[in-house]
Amino acid sequence: MKLSIVIPCYNEEKNVELIHDAVVKLFYSKKISYEMIFVNDGSRDNTIGELKKLVDKNEANIKVVNFSRNFGKEAAMYAGLKESKGDYVSIIDADMQQNPSLLLKMLGILEENENYDSVAAYPEKRKESKVLVFFKKIFYKLINKIVEIEFVDGASDFRMFKRPMVDAILSMQEYCRFSKGIFSWVGFNTYYMPYQVSERVNGTSKWSFWKLFKYAIDGIVSFTTAPLRMATILGLFISFGSFVYFLIVIIQTVICGIDVPGYASLIGISLLLGGIQLLSLGIIGEYLARNYMENKKRPIYIAREVLETKKAKK
Ligand code: UDP
Ligand code: MG
Repeated sequence: MKLSIVIPCYNEEKNVELIHDAVVKLFYSKKISYEMIFVNDGSRDNTIGELKKLVDKNEANIKVVNFSRNFGKEAAMYAGLKESKGDYVSIIDADMQQNPSLLLKMLGILEENENYDSVAAYPEKRKESKVLVFFKKIFYKLINKIVEIEFVDGASDFRMFKRPMVDAILSMQEYCRFSKGIFSWVGFNTYYMPYQVSERVNGTSKWSFWKLFKYAIDGIVSFTTAPLRMATILGLFISFGSFVYFLIVIIQTVICGIDVPGYASLIGISLLLGGIQLLSLGIIGEYLARNYMENKKRPIYIAREVLETKKAKK
């Protein structure tokens, strides 16, 4: 098997056939053996019914991993990579925002360049709200400052890997998965390819601002313990400052006697310290929670069933 195409699907009943047909058409006259691995991530619509139809159609090698519930795109990508057999493995969204014909371009790049182990596509122009773009920029600036590995601004999950890199990604068994970090943590050489994002054909995007915010925190906490150190350093500074201030107050009291006013500074300082303490506690909590989840050693996903075409016609 030359190429495995992993397609995570969550509520994509109207799209799976479109992308299936597009891929079949794309490879129709090419002598490239390929398989499509659809991961049904606990869709609430009839995605699985549509996928079963595609398996019955038997036009290409298809595997369907049907999750027992929604485990998230990260888990879906992991499952797809795990089931893949190709020398090259690609991940593409089911919603046709990423033109399948780019798969050939990615394959070409990897075949022609021995030095590259993966291709990551990044959107040329973003059709996102200015606020979101602004926050994303800040996130990447921040994370790249504190993390040893590099996060490339805007690089999507639309990627293709050579087999050794896939095996490296699979060897990372963590439960709280942050793929963008994992892809870059494993190393290897990645070629960044700009591409034009199309509009979603059917259905709606599953990302809300809040989800993205949580995702950003996951990314930071998964790949650096810098925030913990920040709490330590902040604590040190504040303790030192407080000590100096305490000395000043004592000296003032001794020299000028007791001074009653000072309500504003008192309330200000206690609020500030209270806030910083809560923040530090929160940071510790984030790490503790991750540790707790990882320690349970739960599986990354649970499949209800795995369906496969017997032997493709072509
Ligand atoms: N997806 C998934 N599980 C989820 C959410 C999304 O498998 O919990 C899939 C979804 O079906 C699509 C891809 O991940 O194929 C990207 O999702 P979406 O289009 O919502 O993200 P966007 O393109 O807006 O970033
Ligand atoms: Mg999309």
